[in-house]
Amino acid sequence: MTDCLFCKIVSGDVPAKIVRETGRVVAFRDINPQAPTHVLVIPRDHHPNAGALAAADAGLLGEVMTEAHQVAVDEGVADSGYRVVFNTGSGAGQTVFHVHAHVLGGRGLNWPPG
Ligand code: AMP
Ligand code: ZN
Repeated sequence: MTDCLFCKIVSGDVPAKIVRETGRVVAFRDINPQAPTHVLVIPRDHHPNAGALAAADAGLLGEVMTEAHQVAVDEGVADSGYRVVFNTGSGAGQTVFHVHAHVLGGRGLNWPPG
């Protein structure tokens, strides 16, 4: 999608602090971090949200989760605990409609989230 911010990060047209990448998935630091570790994990292919990705390519959604866990390991938060969030729909706070897993950690995380 030419008009999608995260597609432009995948293509390199918009810069990002990339922390991991595979053939199908890219992980980069959130520009407005909400925790000491705040990384976004996205598929290179454009899908608007997690449900759409699950329907189109469940294996790719699995790769996103595998990378999310690997980010947590790399960042040293896997043992203390981390959260993976897919905001889905504007009412849930989704602002970029290219599916992304937020990986948050490095501080106490309240439950339930706001
Ligand atoms: P969401 O609100 O769940 O759609 O999450 C979108 C996230 O993308 C927010 O946490 C933003 O801070 C983040 N974001 C927006 N633009 C950029 C960018 N250019 N590079 C990295 N993260 C971004
Ligand atoms: Zn996109």
